[in-house]
Amino acid sequence: MENKLFYDKKTGWDRMDDAEQTAMMDYAEGYKAFLDEAKTERDAVRRLQQMAEAKGFCAYERGTELHAGDKYYKINRNKGIILFVVGKDGMKSGINLAAAHLDAPRIDIRTIPLYEDNGMALFKTHYYGGIKKYQWTTIPLELRGVVCRATDDGVETIDVRIGDKPGDPVFVITDLLIHLATEQMGKSMMKGIEAEAMNVLVGSKPSQSEIETSDKIKLWVMEFLNREYGITEEDFLSAELSCVPAFKASDVGFDRSFVGGYGHDDRVCSYPAATALFDLKEVPQKTAMAILVDKEEIGSDGVTGMQSRFFDTLVADLCRADDTLFDECIERSTCLSADVCNAFDPNYPQVSEKRNDARANCGVALVKYTGSRGKSGSSDATAELMAKMRSCFNKNRVIWQTGQLGKVDQGGGGTVAMFMANRNIDTVDCGVPVLSMHAPFEVIAKLDLYAAYNGFQAFYGMKE
Ligand code: MN
Ligand code: MN
Repeated sequence: MENKLFYDKKTGWDRMDDAEQTAMMDYAEGYKAFLDEAKTERDAVRRLQQMAEAKGFCAYERGTELHAGDKYYKINRNKGIILFVVGKDGMKSGINLAAAHLDAPRIDIRTIPLYEDNGMALFKTHYYGGIKKYQWTTIPLELRGVVCRATDDGVETIDVRIGDKPGDPVFVITDLLIHLATEQMGKSMMKGIEAEAMNVLVGSKPSQSEIETSDKIKLWVMEFLNREYGITEEDFLSAELSCVPAFKASDVGFDRSFVGGYGHDDRVCSYPAATALFDLKEVPQKTAMAILVDKEEIGSDGVTGMQSRFFDTLVADLCRADDTLFDECIERSTCLSADVCNAFDPNYPQVSEKRNDARANCGVALVKYTGSRGKSGSSDATAELMAKMRSCFNKNRVIWQTGQLGKVDQGGGGTVAMFMANRNIDTVDCGVPVLSMHAPFEVIAKLDLYAAYNGFQAFYGMKE
């Protein structure tokens, strides 16, 4: 007799037929292509805009009337994008919104980066987000971003992208040879690599120019950048350049059940949140929205982060266009804070709580609370909302589980959930379990990615 009294976390593989497994593997191919293309939030916004337009979404202009089924997007300073489908109820019954982020840990290039030292040219850097510094040395890095030139007419933006095309050079942060590392190896992992030693190697060839300078190698690099991009050293002052891992996303394992790649956190949630919206089969009852933001990895502050009023301003515009009070729309809304959680790692069982941590291949994970110590810094979703999502996922045969952030007092973390909940929106974390989170090469299970896609689609269609 089947035991219906116990709850068991099971692999999702037993609950998928052959056709579903094929669909899941196909879906991961599109995701891998997205990972390779969208390594910064700017790349991601550009790609998502193209994908949205191909699916019939248009840029929303303030004052435009809303009609059920209309599809729009709104871009925030090239670094965030909100996508939405107007529901049958317009704005009156609130929004079902999934909030994910597009930024990922990386190595940012400093404002005055370029210098020459002992026959080599290097870039000074400042790491972005929470990283284990040693993981970012001795791996190939690409350079991506923009240089904004100050011209007489205003601003000219130049895209920089070196390292991803076949034949491109890459960049690297060197590390000490083991033979001379006796002192370094005795340090803690926190101190083994110093942030100010994370300088990126960018050249070593002296310029043949007649210009008088002792920095002939630095001069060669500036001559190259001037030829390729029309920039001078002063233009670095208004640039956003980053080094990101230069390798492509690939299948992991004999059975290809995992994807390894850079920036799963949080493209593994933002991609399904967006594509589930693109692929909605019918006009939803409530307005469905994916809000994809920047700056989560450094606290969600700033004009492009989740704490920015950009989201509120757009929703206020939509409410005005639909004769609805903003506060009423907001209080009737529900948010899935779509962010990754840790997957149980058999190499590090000591930090996990086996019963409660998410496991790879058990589906998309609902995380009631995150935070540190006594749940500090968590919005802690209500039991009522957890039950509502259980009901929605179960009705739609979504493969899902619950997750938590390791053992109590082991560490901690947070997501954008509290910033949505603070706005008076019922919010719960919901995302894909990740192995090696924040490493240059993170790992996720394809099954969980596909479950997230199905989960977000079920959520967008949720009526009450
Ligand atoms: Mn994240
Ligand atoms: Mn993160």
